[in-house]
Amino acid sequence: MKDSARQRLKNQVAIVTGASSGIGAGVAKALAADGAAVVVNYSSSSAGAEKVVQEIKDDGGCAMAIKADVSQEDQVQRMFSQVKDQFGTFHILVNNAGLQKDAAFVDMTLDQWQYVLGVNLTGQFLCAREAAREFIRRGVQPEISTAAGKIICMSSVHELIPWAGHANYAASKGGVMLLMKTIAQELAGYKIRVNSIGPGAIKTPINHEAWETEEAANQLLTLIPYNRIGEPRDIGEAAAWLASDESDYVHGITLFVDGGMTLFPGFRANG
Ligand code: NAD
Repeated sequence: MKDSARQRLKNQVAIVTGASSGIGAGVAKALAADGAAVVVNYSSSSAGAEKVVQEIKDDGGCAMAIKADVSQEDQVQRMFSQVKDQFGTFHILVNNAGLQKDAAFVDMTLDQWQYVLGVNLTGQFLCAREAAREFIRRGVQPEISTAAGKIICMSSVHELIPWAGHANYAASKGGVMLLMKTIAQELAGYKIRVNSIGPGAIKTPINHEAWETEEAANQLLTLIPYNRIGEPRDIGEAAAWLASDESDYVHGITLFVDGGMTLFPGFRANG
């Protein structure tokens, strides 16, 4: 492995949803570089997923792609069975798949609302439930990890910051926050660790219009005290740490990885 003297996730299997692009691809590569065998889930872009799998293999890692729409219970259950058939068990779930369907609140259709909630919130519920069932069934394998399993939910700074024009998305991430905290409370006794990552502005296809032009990027930077737009790798590194035993006492939190976006930067010059 090129990048991975650490190998903190050796002998572990990780499932990363929505990993054919953006943050999910960055997380899949970071977990693989740390020693995990990675399942690259995708819903539509098999080419994107196969590219991520190939990049991981080229770096000496282990990966496979599995298609499933995370908002559909039967497809989620089929994916988790395929993973168990292939690897016997798994140890890490990164609930990353998500999307936006933006509209002014008064124009938002029920379809736009339900589509975003279906993927961003119900999808996380369905995948976390399958993961928890397997982690409880298998229990702790002390030679592999101090936890029976790790669930990492991809939230957003918008679990905290209201976002006009994105009521469905912000509601989904607010929902993810309390889903994460509630299952963290409920599953702790099984030694299952549950946390979220709250990315700020990361350069991915989901928000390309916010960073593609110099003007848009400069406007975005006014919201980021650390003065750079994040990269998928920034989130990958955070996910690898949260999945490893180095963070064994970290449970039920959202780790904001946002260059300070949640520091209310509008107040910087307001003394
Ligand atoms: P992206 O569009 O590159 O990635 C989203 C992925 O989810 C895609 O690969 C897409 O195919 C997949 N997906 C969509 N619907 C799916 C479904 N039903 N089943 C399975 N997969 C599905 O965007 P991204 O920025 O990498 O987003 C990843 C996550 O990060 C999302 O949850 C998003 O809300 C969150 N996030 C992103 C940012 C950012 O600035 N990019 C900030 C905060 C949070």
